[in-house]
Amino acid sequence: MRNQQERTISATERHAFAAALCKNFPLGALPSGLLFIAAAFQRFSGNLETGRFLEAFGCLAAALLAAILLLLYLCPPFRRWGFAAGAILYYAGFFCFCLGENRDSGTMYLYYSMLLGTVCMPFPSMFWLWPVPVCAAALLWRDTQMLVPVLIPAAAALYGAYMHYRRSLTFFLSRIRLERLSERDELTGLYNRRGLCKQAERLWTICRENRLAVSVLMVDIDDFKAFNDTYGHIQGDECLRQIAQRITSEANRYCAGRQITVRYGGEEFLVISDHPDFLSFAGRIVAEIRELRFASSDGTESSITISAGLYSGVPDADSPLESFIEKADEALYAAKKHGKNRLIVYGGPIPAAQIN
Ligand code: GH3
Ligand code: MG
Ligand code: MG
Repeated sequence: MRNQQERTISATERHAFAAALCKNFPLGALPSGLLFIAAAFQRFSGNLETGRFLEAFGCLAAALLAAILLLLYLCPPFRRWGFAAGAILYYAGFFCFCLGENRDSGTMYLYYSMLLGTVCMPFPSMFWLWPVPVCAAALLWRDTQMLVPVLIPAAAALYGAYMHYRRSLTFFLSRIRLERLSERDELTGLYNRRGLCKQAERLWTICRENRLAVSVLMVDIDDFKAFNDTYGHIQGDECLRQIAQRITSEANRYCAGRQITVRYGGEEFLVISDHPDFLSFAGRIVAEIRELRFASSDGTESSITISAGLYSGVPDADSPLESFIEKADEALYAAKKHGKNRLIVYGGPIPAAQIN
C-alpha cells in the first residue's frame, strides 16, 4: 500500500517535472537561439570564405534550433523530441563557436547565451551542462580571462538553482512533515500502528544483530467503557491523554529514550524497549497510573487502573514483532482474567491477589 503510494507520488512528480521542462525550455533557450540567429546572419552576410566549417555548422545548428523552438511553441506533441534535439543543437552550437576562428565573438555568444539561458530556464540540466562548454573553451583557448565573465553566468545559474530547488525543498519538507504526522496518533501524540512498524523495524534489526533482548509491554485501561459512561467522552479523551503522557514521561525516565511508545488501539498502549531493566518500568507504570487523579467538571476527582502484559526475548529471524505482541497480549489477557489492575509477565507467575 505504502509502496503504491510512493510510486504514485514519484510518477506525479515526474510528470510535473516533465511538463515544467517542456514549458520552460523554449522560454529559456529562445533568447539564446535568437543570439545564434544574429550570429548566423552576421557570418553569412560577411565573408563566408573566411568562416571555417565548424562556425558554419554552428550557425546552421542555431538556425535549426530556432526552427525547433518555434515548432515546440506551436505543436505540443513535438515537445518531447524537440527538447532533446534542441538541447543537442544548443550545445553543438556552443562547441562550434568555441572551436571556430573568431574567438572573441564566440566568447560573447557563449557568454550571453548562457547568461540568458540560465536565468530564463532555471533547470538542473542547464546547471550541469553549462560549465562543460565554458571550461572546454577556456582550456582550448588557454584563455584564463574568459573565466571572469563566466562568474556572472555562474551566479545566474546559482540563482536559478536556488529558485528551482526552493520549490522542490518546500515540497520535500512538507512530505516529511506529512509522513511524520501520519505516523502519530492525533489525540495522544504517541506513535500509531504505522509509526510502530517503522520504528520497530530499526530496533528489531539492532537487537537481532547484537543478540539483545527486547521487551514488549501491552497496556489496557480497565473498565474504560464505564469511565466514559460515567464522566463522558470528553473526560475519557482527557484521561487517555494524561495516561499517554505519564507512560511517555516514565518511559523516558526509565528507558533513557530507548523505547517506542504507541497507542495501539482505543485504550490500549504498547511500550517497546531494549532496556535491560524494563521490568521495573513495567511494574512502576501500573502503580503510577493507579495514583493518577482526574479532575471532573463537577469538581470531583476520579481515578482509573490499567492492566499490563509483558513479554521479553531476543528476536531472531523467526520471531517478528507480531509474535512478541501476541505473547504480551496473552499476558495482558491473563492480567484481566485474574482481576485487572496488575502486571503479568508472559510465562511468569500469576499474582494470587490484586495489588492495591
Ligand atoms: P476492560 O477492562 O475489559 O478492558 O473493559 P473496557 O471497558 O476498558 O473495554 P471495552 O473494550 O469494553 O471498551 C473500551 C472502551 O474504550 C469503549 C470505547 O468507547 C472506549 N474508547 C476507545 N477509544 C476511545 C477514545 O478515543 N476516546 C474515548 N473517550 N473513549 C474511547
Ligand atoms: Mg481494550
Ligand atoms: Mg479496557
